[in-house]
Amino acid sequence: MAHPIKGFNPHTLIDWEGKVACVVYLSGCNFRCPFCHSSVLVVSPQSLPTIPFERIERFLQEKQGWIDGVVIGGGEPTLYEQLPVLLEDIRKLGLLIKLDTNGTMPEMLRELLLRNLIDFVAMDIKAPLEEEKYCQVVERKVVISDIRESIDLVMNSVVEYEFRTTVVPALLTMPDILKIAQSLHGAQKYVLQQFNPKDTLDKNMATLAPYPVDELKKCAKLAKEFVKDCSVRGI
Ligand code: SF4
Repeated sequence: MAHPIKGFNPHTLIDWEGKVACVVYLSGCNFRCPFCHSSVLVVSPQSLPTIPFERIERFLQEKQGWIDGVVIGGGEPTLYEQLPVLLEDIRKLGLLIKLDTNGTMPEMLRELLLRNLIDFVAMDIKAPLEEEKYCQVVERKVVISDIRESIDLVMNSVVEYEFRTTVVPALLTMPDILKIAQSLHGAQKYVLQQFNPKDTLDKNMATLAPYPVDELKKCAKLAKEFVKDCSVRGI
């Protein structure tokens, strides 16, 4: 069966800091974050053509030496059962792999780490680790123990990682962000992403003004009490 690849960005310098990478987008997601910018991949992936992996493979072979790695994004890639097979095929090309994930599938994450199929994990922490709040932000049922397990797996692994939160004014307060930072105690890196009201899954988000940059920076400074590094992105 073909891998559910519904998007491919051949060149990016911003999705993996310090690397020249390309991005493979897999379809489907178990969350419905209203601020999501991948609504077609999440809600109606069947409307997009599937890109054969062989085409991407050929491109990567041609660009050998020019591309450092492949970012696997989505949607939520860890929902795809054959993800290890896809990553093995990418590994065979001698490339590094970064995984973007929402952390809801710790078993898959464990397998990828054990099999040395990822070099960097970027895990979204959508809200403080409290069931009601998390469900409210992602508009789906969430098993908080799974998110905690993924956090532990990532922090106890040997791969590079970052945790990140999109700071959406209507959904998260600055004390919420500090609660998240507290639950990531000792983490290498926590990134606060500025909310962008353009092209969101929930069109009502379009009128929502992002937090002032100064406020985000102040919050990042306070969060450094709990994590080794906290920065603001997208400002
Ligand atoms: S932001 Fe990520 S986790 Fe949320 S709906 Fe979009 S793809 Fe899924």
